[in-house]
Amino acid sequence: MAKRVLVALGGNALKRPGGKGTYEEQLEAVQKTAKQLAEMVARGYDLVITHGNGLQVGYLLIQQEEGVRRGAPPQPLDVLNAMTQGQIGYMLQQCLQNELRSRGIKRPVLTVVTQVLVRPDDPAFSKPTKPVGPCYTEEEAKRLVEERGYVVMEVPGSGGKRFRRVVPSPDPVAIVEAEAIKRMLDMGMVVIACGGGGVPVVEQGRKLAGVEAVIDKDLASEKLAEVVGADVLLILTDVKKVKLNYGKPNERDIDAMSVEEAKRYMAEGHFPPGSMGPKVEACIRFLEQGGKLAIIAHLEEALEALEGRAGTVIYARPPTLEKVKRAGVLGIMP
Ligand code: ADP
Ligand code: MG
Repeated sequence: MAKRVLVALGGNALKRPGGKGTYEEQLEAVQKTAKQLAEMVARGYDLVITHGNGLQVGYLLIQQEEGVRRGAPPQPLDVLNAMTQGQIGYMLQQCLQNELRSRGIKRPVLTVVTQVLVRPDDPAFSKPTKPVGPCYTEEEAKRLVEERGYVVMEVPGSGGKRFRRVVPSPDPVAIVEAEAIKRMLDMGMVVIACGGGGVPVVEQGRKLAGVEAVIDKDLASEKLAEVVGADVLLILTDVKKVKLNYGKPNERDIDAMSVEEAKRYMAEGHFPPGSMGPKVEACIRFLEQGGKLAIIAHLEEALEALEGRAGTVIYARPPTLEKVKRAGVLGIMP
């Protein structure tokens, strides 16, 4: 049986570093990413792909605000998230299909607009922490607080006080479309799902309703990896290794760590919230739920990472790691 890998793509998979995020720049980045993904498929891995949407949803939020003046009513955040799932899913789907075709591989690739269930009583709802959208001046921020009930937070920046809207970041509880996604994977399709952490929804009686929140894409990816029975959780980002004392003179690469070590380093504050924290947390959860292997690696070293030659490996039991080093991820499975 092919090994099922959940690949979580970070912001660098979808935009050129330092770029403005024009369509051309995004396409160029997605094409590069698709090459990596196609290579994984060619080497026999089954893929379920998730991705971030920070840049895209940020731009959509700006467009909502500018559009108001021309009579286009702004859409809520859950709808914007769904829009970016379609936008990014389309680009990934097309680029990956092109890459597979050029290798003579016939595999359907499709994107699933994914809803992720959160609890209405999640403590995150009383403490919004996730910045979304553009920076505002103090005056603009005050107006948005009054007119739309935004919660805003002062952010570091040059030239006067700057503010951003912050929204709750609740914990993912379940993937609404999990069963459908699993069946597609079982049928041999490559599935793109849970974009931007998924659209957060809550249960209201027997119904689902979208909420103004953003789910962390790494934590949502972990939940999806669990429910589709992925063997490996591969989180691709813009650093080659997870580090201890990141950014300090005594910074050190972590080649591999056990779940226990990961938890200890986390408690010691090596992995900040909003960036490396949720990635390591996702890996811990995955392994504790019975996942075989979790890897955090640079996008451009994805294949090497799957073969145990790059990235940071997080494991539940050490013998697995030794086998990975010897035989690669394919080699650890029966
Ligand atoms: P992504 O878009 O891939 O989710 P993030 O910016 O959220 O990317 O997270 C990756 C970033 O985490 C890195 O670029 C790095 O600046 C930061 N980071 C924070 N702590 C660490 C750490 N201990 N080791 C490595 N990178 C870290
Ligand atoms: Mg991130």
